[in-house]
Amino acid sequence: MAKEPTFETPKLKEYPVIPLIQEGAMQHIKPFVAKAEFQERLGFPGELVEGWKDVALNRMGELLSQYRSVQVFLDACVKCGACTDKCHYYLGTADPKNMPVARQDLLRNVYRRYFTLAGKYFPKLVGAVDLTEEVLEDWYRYYHQCSECRRCSVYCPYGIDTAEITMAGREILDSVGIGQKYSNEIIGKVYKIGNNLGLPEPALADTLEGLEEEVKADTGVDVRFPLDQEGAEILLVTPSADFFAEPHVDGLIGYAKVFHQAGISWTLSSYASEAANFALFIGNYENMEKVARRIRDAALKLGVKRIVTGECGHAWRVAYSFWNTLIGPFDFLDANYPQPQHICEFTHSLMKQGVLKFNKAANDHRIVTFHDSCNIARASRMGDKPGGQFVIPREIIKACCNHFYDMAPETIHEHTFCCGGGGGLLTDDLIELRVKGALPRMEALKHVVDEHGVTHLVAICAICKSQFAKVMPYYGFDRDMVISVHQLVGDALDMATTH
Ligand code: SF4
Ligand code: SF4
Repeated sequence: MAKEPTFETPKLKEYPVIPLIQEGAMQHIKPFVAKAEFQERLGFPGELVEGWKDVALNRMGELLSQYRSVQVFLDACVKCGACTDKCHYYLGTADPKNMPVARQDLLRNVYRRYFTLAGKYFPKLVGAVDLTEEVLEDWYRYYHQCSECRRCSVYCPYGIDTAEITMAGREILDSVGIGQKYSNEIIGKVYKIGNNLGLPEPALADTLEGLEEEVKADTGVDVRFPLDQEGAEILLVTPSADFFAEPHVDGLIGYAKVFHQAGISWTLSSYASEAANFALFIGNYENMEKVARRIRDAALKLGVKRIVTGECGHAWRVAYSFWNTLIGPFDFLDANYPQPQHICEFTHSLMKQGVLKFNKAANDHRIVTFHDSCNIARASRMGDKPGGQFVIPREIIKACCNHFYDMAPETIHEHTFCCGGGGGLLTDDLIELRVKGALPRMEALKHVVDEHGVTHLVAICAICKSQFAKVMPYYGFDRDMVISVHQLVGDALDMATTH
């Protein structure tokens, strides 16, 4: 049972209902600030620095010259308003500062004041504002009410990406010493232990052994979950939630069954036991590289030929869009395969080759719909055709399940709504935001539940799965409705046929 909320859960209506503005509706929400030791571990000041204003403006200047996109985004907006009703946090909270254009303006108004001639001499005329403590507070508050989902950018005629502005805002906040507790502590855990959950190697080894016994008991087949196996063909990097959290672990069992059925050797790494990379969320490329480099180092040490990434939205974005620049080249891996490869691409290609046989009836007790995760839908791709990230997971689901219904077209594919917990916001100190931000997705889900009797919401992202399992009870749905693509795969795989 969900804990009694101290706020009102929005009522589910037919999407789209655009709320009337409520000034300051989410002014009371902000996440905990990271302690000094966690800030310093990431190379940031431990607390708000003396002369923070100069430090912040210097960092802003550096970001503007390093990443031209940020300056273009700050300059290009014509205030057309097309993005205003596209953010799930605005739709769920009605706070006008959660309109994407208003979120951008928090940084834009300061940029104009200090970095444009008009703003220096005629600030009022161009809406330029001084960088004050109140402005800094607003940055902290509202740049942590954006999940960096990029939905607004799909509708902006100039392609302005608020996610990049949010990342720049968070980077400036870190540089003056006020980083977010949740993300920064997690990055520190990866440096210290190897994964977001702080799961040490012996516990991981025990867990994997337990899973081998569980699968043997269920299927009678010796499916292995290897750890640190040198010379394996594939290194699997997956979000650490897959190791034991529900419903994630059933996805991991699905991956292991696929590897087993394909007869391809694989391994996990205790050193790189995390695919997630929260440094993306804080917009800091130095830390993003440091987290990612563990995976390259593990692949080299284990002598694998391929790297496959498990079900995790932002991890796939980092792998697909950033790995080559940050930790490439991957010339030590087998050039006959995409490097890296998503587990869905891997399973899909085996499926197409006829290597995997499914008994679809095994999933007949499930009527499913699919949630496109933002980072996969709008910030990466799968396969070799545009839109492969929409087609491949759906083809897998349809291959192993008889009852599939998509949600409304304006809420899927590149129009998909964020789960409400992405971008480093999956923390209990933001539960009100998470519940309210989930509203549009819950409305679209309710529609297919009412129309088609949908019983399960399938996802390929660890954050989406955790977020849904937490917030769905607030809307009267059962948390057990959430399921991994690879749980469907694992349950339908015909384990009697071996290759
Ligand atoms: S990136 Fe997503 S969360 Fe952020 S303002 Fe745009 S729609 Fe909202
Ligand atoms: S859609 Fe683009 S140009 Fe229009 S208000 Fe939003 S950010 Fe500005």
